[in-house]
Amino acid sequence: MTDVLLGVPTTRRVEDRAPSREGRTYFLRTFGCQMNEHDSERVAGLFEGDGMVRADSQEEADVLFVNTCTIRENADNKLYGTLGHLKSLKDEREGRLLVVGGCAAQKDRDLVRQKAPWVDVVLGTHNVDRVLDLLDHAEAWGPITEILDEPGETMAADLPSRRDVSHSAWVTIQTGCNNTCTFCIVPSVRGGEISRRPGDIIREVERLTADGVTEVTLLGQNVNTYGRDLAIDGRRRPIFADLLRRVGEVDGIRRIRFTSPHPADMKEDVAAAMAETEAVCEQLHFPLQSGSRAVLARMHRGYTPERYLERLAMLRATIPGLTVSTDIIVGFPGETDEDFEATLDVVREAQYDSAFMFVFSPRPGTAAAEMTDHFVPDDVVQERFQRLLALQSTIGHDRNRAMIGDVYEVLSEGPSKKDPGMTTTRTRGGKLVHVDGVLPEGTFASAEIIDAAKFHLTGRLV
Ligand code: SF4
Repeated sequence: MTDVLLGVPTTRRVEDRAPSREGRTYFLRTFGCQMNEHDSERVAGLFEGDGMVRADSQEEADVLFVNTCTIRENADNKLYGTLGHLKSLKDEREGRLLVVGGCAAQKDRDLVRQKAPWVDVVLGTHNVDRVLDLLDHAEAWGPITEILDEPGETMAADLPSRRDVSHSAWVTIQTGCNNTCTFCIVPSVRGGEISRRPGDIIREVERLTADGVTEVTLLGQNVNTYGRDLAIDGRRRPIFADLLRRVGEVDGIRRIRFTSPHPADMKEDVAAAMAETEAVCEQLHFPLQSGSRAVLARMHRGYTPERYLERLAMLRATIPGLTVSTDIIVGFPGETDEDFEATLDVVREAQYDSAFMFVFSPRPGTAAAEMTDHFVPDDVVQERFQRLLALQSTIGHDRNRAMIGDVYEVLSEGPSKKDPGMTTTRTRGGKLVHVDGVLPEGTFASAEIIDAAKFHLTGRLV
């Protein structure tokens, strides 16, 4: 029997459970963005709290969790390919349980169940905290789908989590988004903005530092609007700038990053908090999406290229040495040659250190996916994409070269994958630096930059 429960609120508390899967193994496959990565850490935390241990591969796992994405290109196709493979895995081992969660499950709801009836649990983005209860249900009664329209009682951010790196952690400050960018599925799969209370965030950061964490990345879809939904006893609502300062006061925190700010909502107060809070890194991800006024309007981004560049100039003037990255979509419906040239102009002026560049890909359920009459032909989009890539590669390489000879604080991420005699580190600006010698993960050091490639630097410890 398959139970399909849609829009049902949860009432059971996570901490009421006793471990019930002692010694069983689990494996997580995560697609998509940092939000999903962080949700997977929470699922791992819940599984380990239930007595399970992590398997080295999905073939060895008793419980396999697939955390899906609908945003990145081809994510849907990959999901449905993966579901087919899951069936053979399920058939290989009796009692193996399959769980599908994340954005695609939230968006497609019972379609996942229809396409893959062999999946034991399908759950959405609002009820990660229910995963153990749903596994209990599946073992006792058979497959179950539970998708909620609103977050359950336990905000996912408050769940225990299991991290892969010891010195660095993500901290969710806000879930969902109130914007209506026409290419984006997030508001419909993650819901409206919900901010965590500042005290809960600070307590989580304090717990992390007690556990050896020195670097946190604050996560939200639009961190600049953090706190707008919170009313605290009639007092002033918390704002993101204050949160940055408060996190910066936590003992042991040496690096604070955040993603993503929204150019329409980025104001001087946040720039000042970044500049005045020692732990806040000189790094900003500032998503442009397009340099054309007309395309930005069709995207519902809420700013013009001129306003975007003004704010970027303000940020650079306030925060010396700021490293800036961006997101750009090429070939948004209706993008003309002139629109694209305008994007290249902004890229030249903005001088990004790096950029995530995407070819427009219609996400079902978004307004942009309906603009089929204005889709740009593939060959035109590809040609534009290559031009943008070439331009940004040159700019990024030049900016990396300009760092040669200077000394930066770097933080070790462990041995380099290519050469175990070297260490992979990051600057405060988020640049990847491979340094000579072995530094344990989490160690701070100083490195002089001696060489610069397009996407990484080479350094010598000093
Ligand atoms: S700000 Fe726009 S792109 Fe970002 S999550 Fe919200 S709707 Fe999506």
